[in-house]
Amino acid sequence: MVVGTSPDFPPFEYVTSNGSIVGIDIELIKHLAKMMGYDAIKIVSIDFDGPIPALTNGKIDVIAAGMTITEERKKVVAFTIPYWSADQAILVTKNSNFKPKSLSDLEGKIVTVQSGTTGESLVDDFINKTGAKITVKRHSSFVLAVKDLLNGRVDAVIVDSPVAKLFTQKYGVEVATIISTGKHYGLAVRKDDTQLLNAINEAFKKFLSSPEWKAIID
Ligand code: GLN
Repeated sequence: MVVGTSPDFPPFEYVTSNGSIVGIDIELIKHLAKMMGYDAIKIVSIDFDGPIPALTNGKIDVIAAGMTITEERKKVVAFTIPYWSADQAILVTKNSNFKPKSLSDLEGKIVTVQSGTTGESLVDDFINKTGAKITVKRHSSFVLAVKDLLNGRVDAVIVDSPVAKLFTQKYGVEVATIISTGKHYGLAVRKDDTQLLNAINEAFKKFLSSPEWKAIID
């Protein structure tokens, strides 16, 4: 089984100093694969605007990338049962006087997002709907987006709330506000791969109530 991930999304997937891809999603898919009888899985690193085409082209079999289940994506891929909830966070630097409380407060500012993410569509949809003058800088990685924020090149980052929380522990940034979107993460497979979807879901249901899952989260 070939698994595609986008390892700039701690604690779900990230790269350690020795170059290994680790994180909650990686542990999760390894456990599920074992339960499903696979001897080994291959993890492939892809920028977040890439895993859906890689999946539909047959280059990978599963996406494990903190991917939010959305109606739009459901037209192209099949999602497993949900395993994590996420809202969107507006991240700013710790010493900044700029503390936006809503998307409207980003008027006249530069925000950065990762291409292909729900954070990107949240701000794009807001701009299209309201005509707000917000400059959006798009990055291939959230880690680069946060570096831009720390270097003062942008005013804010829009990123999923669980990942924002981890960035606040690692870098000099803080969450200015949470925009409640009430979304969930799922693993994704090809739409016609019903057998694989059913097998993953069967293992997944068992795994979500197991002590191993709790240990991974801890
Ligand atoms: N959860 C977000 C999305 O699905 C971001 C995922 C990511 O960057 N890995 O768009």
